[in-house]
Amino acid sequence: MVSLEKIAHLAEECRFDSLGPARSPAVVSVDAEKLSTLGGGTRHDVCASTFSPRETPMPGICHAFTQDGRCVSLFKTLYTNHCTHQCGYCTNAANCSRKARAFSYTPEELARITLSLYRSNYIEGLFLSSGAGRDEDRVMEKMVETSRLLRQKFAFSGYIHLKVLPGASHAHIQEAVELADRVSINLEAASASHMNEICATKNYESDILQRQRYIRDMSSETSDTVKTVLPAGQTTQLVVGAAGESDEEIFKRVLYEYKEIGVRRAYYSTFSPQQGTSFEKRKAQPLWREHRLYQMDWLFRVYHFQPGEIRHAFNENGFLANADPKTAIAREFMDEPVDPNTASLRELLRVPGIGPRSAQKIVAFRKRQPIVAKAELAAMGIRIKRAGPFLKINGWRDTTLEMWQA
Ligand code: SF4
Repeated sequence: MVSLEKIAHLAEECRFDSLGPARSPAVVSVDAEKLSTLGGGTRHDVCASTFSPRETPMPGICHAFTQDGRCVSLFKTLYTNHCTHQCGYCTNAANCSRKARAFSYTPEELARITLSLYRSNYIEGLFLSSGAGRDEDRVMEKMVETSRLLRQKFAFSGYIHLKVLPGASHAHIQEAVELADRVSINLEAASASHMNEICATKNYESDILQRQRYIRDMSSETSDTVKTVLPAGQTTQLVVGAAGESDEEIFKRVLYEYKEIGVRRAYYSTFSPQQGTSFEKRKAQPLWREHRLYQMDWLFRVYHFQPGEIRHAFNENGFLANADPKTAIAREFMDEPVDPNTASLRELLRVPGIGPRSAQKIVAFRKRQPIVAKAELAAMGIRIKRAGPFLKINGWRDTTLEMWQA
């Protein structure tokens, strides 16, 4: 684990090869408080979908997972923690009474810190978010400039994830799309009315949805001058439970994002009240809400469940229980157990305890010989305790339906 002191030291070293020893250290030195404040200020920005503690052990370095499951370290930081918006949950909000001291990087400084960490093998990329500063398009310009320095001046080939600030101009978004591997704009709320409740200074349609459509259209354009446009795609993030929204309202919005905006991934961040913010007295939401939403997301993206099936996991008020949503949907939909010898791949994927890989194994196995015992299924990685009540094999079926597992 790289320490704050180490990062500060690496940043200090930068100044001699970047700006020359004649420059005043006060101008270019990066202190641990700045690194810590701007690194810790990204606590609301999620870069991994794991059900993990929100606080990282060291502000500034986070771990994310690639599509193939590889864990990568990123330098995760704000460009500035100064912000004129008033998001009710955020300690950087203009109306927060316990704001940290305001800091900002310069593009050169941030590019060089990133480069030092990268060359020292502490990180594989940069995750850059920011407060809006006094003028969000000006801050966006600086974030783009940081990426440009990295890519063009320093030939940085690591990963770059840039947050697009609400209200950023079309021109700066275009540059961000051309320089980054991934861009994202935080949706935060499930609807315009929920956004109004969370942050009355942002316009949901023009500041966020319109910017998402810009990104969608830019990344679907083919250009000879841009080698691969946004190889890691566009993503978004929602806060869970800050404005009293139900899980169903959140999930409906996410389905829209997948279908209409083409986001690669949606991330969820459970609301937790922070001292000094206008939401400090609101009730903290349980972390399992986030976890259950990730499970729903998985059912849609990976198992290809239809929205009409998925909605059966929500109760009459639109909330998920703290239980496996796949089991809740199976109870609703499956009139009788399925025989793994004859079930289609789609039917197998709807059995709790059977995932895409184990469903494929069942199909491959039964091509060679019939499945005659649950031990054969267990050997293929099927979780019999969960799957048992929904399967019948060779006359055997589990009749203890009350044993359904959460
Ligand atoms: S835009 Fe909202 S969430 Fe982002 S830094 Fe400003 S107040 Fe915080």
